[in-house]
Amino acid sequence: MDSIVIKLNRIQYPVESLGFGKRFGIWVQGCSIHCDGCISKDLWPFDKGRKIPVKALVEIICQMGSSIDGISISGGEPFDQYSSLMAFCSYLKALNGPPVQVFSGYRLDEIDTKYPDKTYTECIDGLIDGPYISHLNKGDFWRGSENQNFYTFEKGNAQKKSYPHKQGAWALNSTPEGEHFFAGIPAPNTLLELENYLKKAGIQMRFEK
Ligand code: SF4
Repeated sequence: MDSIVIKLNRIQYPVESLGFGKRFGIWVQGCSIHCDGCISKDLWPFDKGRKIPVKALVEIICQMGSSIDGISISGGEPFDQYSSLMAFCSYLKALNGPPVQVFSGYRLDEIDTKYPDKTYTECIDGLIDGPYISHLNKGDFWRGSENQNFYTFEKGNAQKKSYPHKQGAWALNSTPEGEHFFAGIPAPNTLLELENYLKKAGIQMRFEK
């Protein structure tokens, strides 16, 4: 366990747009899926970001105790770092840590085929699956586009659940270094409105590539 690392772009607390409650957000670095219209292209390269020991990350979370309602893992593509992701989630589960919700660009059937050991069904509590399809972006809570499904895992079996109807599908968060990023995916018209609003204030919005 001591030698297992996970490559991250950022962590953030609290995040309230990627699941219920005040969550610990983890954005992994690296994505091989490359959805058309992705707003997180800066998270695609695997040679950026920072490697963090999985054990240290779990310990940070456990020290925060009950202030964390859950963990949301997004990216980038979490399942592109499968063994690290499983080590993180399994260790957290063994320590009775908060529930974990993962956002993946792979569909559940693809994950099933790719990783027949099915460890993820034992250590992940919630999964939002499937690629981002921009013309299916309706600004829903949790999901970037309507093709994406929400599953929970009970006794190793995936249960498809309906999405909660809730406002606040996304939030604009800031890092201590002064960078801004979206937690969740705004609807296309919202993004355009925000861009125009900022332009009027003399601020140009650009996405890091
Ligand atoms: S939306 Fe997610 S899965 Fe799709 S390209 Fe962007 S980071 Fe990768």
